Amino acid sequence: MRPEEGFARRAGALLRAAANDLKRDDENAERELGLEKGTFAQYADGRRPVDWELMRRAAQTWPLNERDLLPLHDDSPAGVRIMRQEESRASSRVLSRAGEPYYEYRDTAMSRIASYRPEWIRMLRVVDDNEPENPLVQWNRGHLLYQFTYFIGPVNYYYRWDGVSHCVPMETGDSVWGLPFAPHSFAARTSAEPACILALTYGGSLVGDAQRELAVLGNAATQALAVPLAEGARLPGAAIRSFMDAGAVTVAELADRTGISPRRTEELAGGSVSPDAKELALLATGLGVSVRDLLLPRSGTVDGVSVQHARDARSWVWPGDGATAYRITRLAGDPLHPHTSALQVDVLLDDVEQAAPLTTYQHQYLYVLGDDPVGLRWEFAGERFEYTLGPGDSAYVRPQVPITFAAARGGRPRVLLLRISGAVTPEVRYAVGTMAAGGIDRYVAEDRLWYS
Ligand code: FE
Repeated sequence: MRPEEGFARRAGALLRAAANDLKRDDENAERELGLEKGTFAQYADGRRPVDWELMRRAAQTWPLNERDLLPLHDDSPAGVRIMRQEESRASSRVLSRAGEPYYEYRDTAMSRIASYRPEWIRMLRVVDDNEPENPLVQWNRGHLLYQFTYFIGPVNYYYRWDGVSHCVPMETGDSVWGLPFAPHSFAARTSAEPACILALTYGGSLVGDAQRELAVLGNAATQALAVPLAEGARLPGAAIRSFMDAGAVTVAELADRTGISPRRTEELAGGSVSPDAKELALLATGLGVSVRDLLLPRSGTVDGVSVQHARDARSWVWPGDGATAYRITRLAGDPLHPHTSALQVDVLLDDVEQAAPLTTYQHQYLYVLGDDPVGLRWEFAGERFEYTLGPGDSAYVRPQVPITFAAARGGRPRVLLLRISGAVTPEVRYAVGTMAAGGIDRYVAEDRLWYS
């Protein structure tokens, strides 16, 4: 199937799904959208392209947004999208700060399916100390996207949190994960060797629908919806209170449902006291939710960042049995994002046939570190693909695509993997896992009226 055919088919399926949601059959849809008799089915099955005019009319007539009818472009129809170093180099541009060249940026592999905005960046500013307030350091104002950064060479990392500036001297293999909107900067400690970073920014579920919804709801509502997790501001009972509000449940009613004393229930609903395991189970049953819904996540960030130095990073071999294919090193991350994994992979085998494939539910980004090329094999839709990636090459890998690395030409290649989740949160995975038989087929491509 040509890419534009897939796009048209997905657009048609969204139109059909929207009409189903609004309980419009073909005849009613045609009348309300001013379409010729008999054409709605052609739009819905992709024979006629859903054009801007039709989307505009649908968004005007029906309570939906143009965006609801817009599918994604599939730019990795073979499962993996590779970007060669030459292509990265061609995207090179120098960004100045305060009128002076400060960074050289190069794009690396991105995909329209995932929220990655990964850049290779070379530091053009050289400093001769590790002072956070060095006037040569030019700060940004922070940005929305989460940033995982991998350091190559003598790079100073600067970050500011609550008005206090910090500087951490980094070496090759060090990494950091940072929260949105914290100002930061980078500089080289010497001009004698390359000082670069891989700045792998991504939005995850913060971008897309959530941001659009909150932009309409506005600042006050977003402030009220925010759940603080920092020590001191964190309320362990915040989720209990939310569900009580949602169900219009009083303390007396919750105490009655759970058998927990009214006084203790009051305390737990206040939010500052943590329920014990037994109380959690009773509250979950009483509120009609799962225990996990009543638990707050934690963040291990200190002043907005989690730093992982290479010298004390955990590493192990993989897989646990059979031929050892890789040495895996765990890089910076945070419990706030349990579905983000940053890994450094040292490839130990020359023979791709012996190496075990790596598979994950996450979107994957990979970048070839070091000086040695690496063989990459993957399987997608029953087909097998094999490429050799050179240093500086990068790739995007779709979820659930098994990939295998092998050393090419006797080298010892090293690959950086950053795995993230997208819009498919655990809630979505549970929902598709509980659909009626045949539901998944229709969820990904609605092709019919909801009744016959
Ligand atoms: Fe940044």
